[in-house]
Amino acid sequence: MQESLLHRRIDLHTHSNCSDGMLTPTELLTKAKEQEVELFSLTDHDTLTGLEEAAIAAKALGIMLVPGVELSVQWAGIPLHMVVLGFDQSNDVLASIVESNQKTRLERAKRIAQLLVKQGLPDLYEKAVIEAGPSQIGRPHFARVMVREGLVKDDNKAFDQYLGNKRLGKLRDVWPNLEDIVPDLAVTGCDLVMAHPKRYPLTLTKLKRLMTHFSQLGGNAMEVSSGNENPQSVRMLETIARDLGLGVSAGSDFHGPYGPWCQVGKFTPIQEASLNPIWHKWL
Ligand code: AMP
Ligand code: MN
Ligand code: MN
Ligand code: MN
Repeated sequence: MQESLLHRRIDLHTHSNCSDGMLTPTELLTKAKEQEVELFSLTDHDTLTGLEEAAIAAKALGIMLVPGVELSVQWAGIPLHMVVLGFDQSNDVLASIVESNQKTRLERAKRIAQLLVKQGLPDLYEKAVIEAGPSQIGRPHFARVMVREGLVKDDNKAFDQYLGNKRLGKLRDVWPNLEDIVPDLAVTGCDLVMAHPKRYPLTLTKLKRLMTHFSQLGGNAMEVSSGNENPQSVRMLETIARDLGLGVSAGSDFHGPYGPWCQVGKFTPIQEASLNPIWHKWL
């Protein structure tokens, strides 16, 4: 491998305020520039809205932009995230999945509000919709309203007590099944990356089964490093990717200026030389 490819700064997983991030796409790209990121992807949840602004900012700042989106999906009733990278604007298969997921988000928000009422909270639907504004509505918007209303201390508590997958059990199966979208997307030639695999409630055996299945369906990569994941987990994910012949991706999953590790362009280093990073083709 060329030595020059090893030290390029990349970030292939970030969020703007078009979904649940805090910064505009332009502010995000500006942060990327400060961090000397050379190759960047905006991967908002279930929306492509920020990509145009991101492209303009990236061009002005001299950063290479890879079009991206983080799709909400499910496998065996477990909600998962899949990062799609490197598609072109005419990708109708992707556009229709995104459109469908956006409808699901709105319907799901109503159901989240109803479930919260059952847990003893006031009806927060209208406030969450206002909080989201033009952004794709999600649980973080409910969390922010709950903090502002003094119902919980912080976002983490909101997820722990009310919004986590266990608490909203009935809402787990709203997303498209992997089987229904991965093969169709794979033939369009974009990169399909299983996002942050360590964050799912899966044993190692089940995680390997998921990744084998994902690969058989046409998924081609795994995000082996995401934000401040611990190095042991990253080594474990690298091994799975190597064993299955999957490409690897990495990114900060930056949502806003919180902790020191949640910086644009920062993630636990990976053993890049012995892996097949999907970003090499763009550098
Ligand atoms: P949703 O897209 O509505 O399913 O919400 C998922 C998003 O909530 C994730 O992408 C994170 O940004 C955020 N999130 C998940 N867990 C937590 C948590 N414990 N504390 C704060 N934010 C969280
Ligand atoms: Mn998010
Ligand atoms: Mn995610
Ligand atoms: Mn993300």
